[in-house]
Amino acid sequence: MDTDVLIVGAGPTGMTLANELLMAGVSTALVDKLAQRSDLSKAGGVQSRTLEALDQRGLLEPLLATGNHPVTTGHFAGVPLPRRSSRHRLPWRSVPQVVIEQFFEQHLAAHGLHARRDHELVRLAQDDDGVTAAFADGTTLRSRYLVAADGAHSTVRSLLRAEFPGQPGTSTVIAADVRLGGAEPTTSHTWNEDGHWAALFPLGTDPQGRPLRRLVLGGPGQALPRRPRSPRTTSTTA
Ligand SMILES: Cc1cc2nc3c(=O)[nH]c(=O)nc-3n(C[C@H](O)[C@H](O)[C@H](O)COP(=O)(O)OP(=O)(O)OC[C@H]3O[C@@H](n4cnc5c(N)ncnc54)[C@H](O)[C@@H]3O)c2cc1C
Repeated sequence: MDTDVLIVGAGPTGMTLANELLMAGVSTALVDKLAQRSDLSKAGGVQSRTLEALDQRGLLEPLLATGNHPVTTGHFAGVPLPRRSSRHRLPWRSVPQVVIEQFFEQHLAAHGLHARRDHELVRLAQDDDGVTAAFADGTTLRSRYLVAADGAHSTVRSLLRAEFPGQPGTSTVIAADVRLGGAEPTTSHTWNEDGHWAALFPLGTDPQGRPLRRLVLGGPGQALPRRPRSPRTTSTTA
């Protein structure tokens, strides 16, 4: 065996599990197909329960020390929730996913676990003792267990032919992390009767400490393009 656990995918899920296994002293390998961490605009905020889980692991304080990550308005299915600390011990905070991923990657590396990048899982074979994972570059890794943390379009799920019951999405959303001059960072939502909407809210700071805001445009069905027309459409402008 090369390792007890192979985690495929070094996003928030894979890195959180890697940290748990690290703390438990389990030998773990973490692989990701990307040569570098993604800088796309994904999660903009961290929910109370996640903040509590980070706090339990002693990671909340160092995470919040990476920049200005303000308490901001949460929402339920797009309906803004009031910003009241009395409702939560640790209220919703704006922390860009790029910041969280960078934080976790550095935290794991400081404890000796380095994500192996440029490792795209393309095949796997299971037997009674474990799993052999094969990567696009022709290398293989043998582990007792393999964990799929490879996101919404999971290769592992496809390779295992695991079902993924559900329905196609009913709306399309475009997100961009932007820096705007002038106005104070406030939160605003605009809704149209035809189902289109827009929102702008403070997103704390980017890894360089510069203030960011999240601009989100939504529309019904496929009203908005699913794929970026240019890299700047969905990537951070930082
Ligand atoms: C616009 C947007 C806004 C969002 N806002 C929020 C929010 O405010 N709050 C919130 O909690 N969530 C939010 N989310 C959801 C959040 O981004 C996801 O839940 C989160 O990224 C899931 O993490 P993950 O680690 O499971 O998967 P991912 O982040 O998708 O990571 C999967 C990793 O697996 C790697 N991978 C994929 N295939 C392979 C392969 N074959 N071999 C090796 N590696 C592979 C990928 O490169 C990637 O690094 C948002 C998402 C989007 C898109």
